[in-house]
Amino acid sequence: MNKGLEKVLIKADRVSVHGGHSGQFCQHASDKLEEIVQAYITQGFRWAGITEHIPPASDAMRYPDEKQAGLSADFLQERFAEYFRLGRELQQKYREQIELFLAFEIEHYPGSETHVEALIEQYQPDYLVGSLHHVGKTGIDYSHELFQQALQEAGSMTQLYCDYFDAQFDMLQKFKPSVVGHFDLIRIYDQDYLKTLKQDAVQERITRNLDFIAENRLILDFNLRGFDKAMEQYPSLSIIKQALQKNIALVPGDDSHGVSSVGRNYDQGLTVLSNLGATLDWQKPNLMQY
Ligand SMILES: [Zn+2]
Ligand SMILES: [Zn+2]
Repeated sequence: MNKGLEKVLIKADRVSVHGGHSGQFCQHASDKLEEIVQAYITQGFRWAGITEHIPPASDAMRYPDEKQAGLSADFLQERFAEYFRLGRELQQKYREQIELFLAFEIEHYPGSETHVEALIEQYQPDYLVGSLHHVGKTGIDYSHELFQQALQEAGSMTQLYCDYFDAQFDMLQKFKPSVVGHFDLIRIYDQDYLKTLKQDAVQERITRNLDFIAENRLILDFNLRGFDKAMEQYPSLSIIKQALQKNIALVPGDDSHGVSSVGRNYDQGLTVLSNLGATLDWQKPNLMQY
């Protein structure tokens, strides 16, 4: 048995605002979507958002793994349609066991806006996870090499963070996503991120973005995947403290990419939130109105 269970006395519902990436619909995930839904049920999740990545706007914007696999943007669009069809079916099929939301994780890069608008119109997701995986058109979380390229294009680490948070502000204003995904993902390959986050120019932007999130009652994805990389969760502790002062809701997102990452690091995350005195009475994402 899991020894950790003896220590965990924190009582809170299991929920996830961000996750359910599956090998069926995402090149860097594993397992079938239904198996992942079943894992949420087995682990006693009260509700979970299934939030697959959107397909790319064009072949040029495919993730490297999609390029390598020779999958065209057209194919990925079709696969996304199948994701939505199946997602709605599973939502119904398991509605007695778990409240599932069918959402998607958007991207923000030059040219993405009309693409995202069209996807919202076509699929009418329950909500959006607003994430950035690019600065400009360069991917930042895929590999160290690509991150270095983005860094070179920006000119300095501080500038890269500024560009990231400015693009995030753009995305927030445009889409007001109910859930803001891994707020400070830009630090993923920066060893000195604690210092970079404290730069005045970076801090100003973080404050501005958090103010917008607070005013619009958006949820910050308390992203448990950060622990996998022997780092903190996203957002970093200093940002969480600022968010709590602004009464922003932090809600766990396991960012699962397969059955094995469903609920991963959950208790570790609860400990962090509970030590900070954050509420464990989770806010649900605002559902989009059509
Ligand atoms: Zn992913
Ligand atoms: Zn993401």
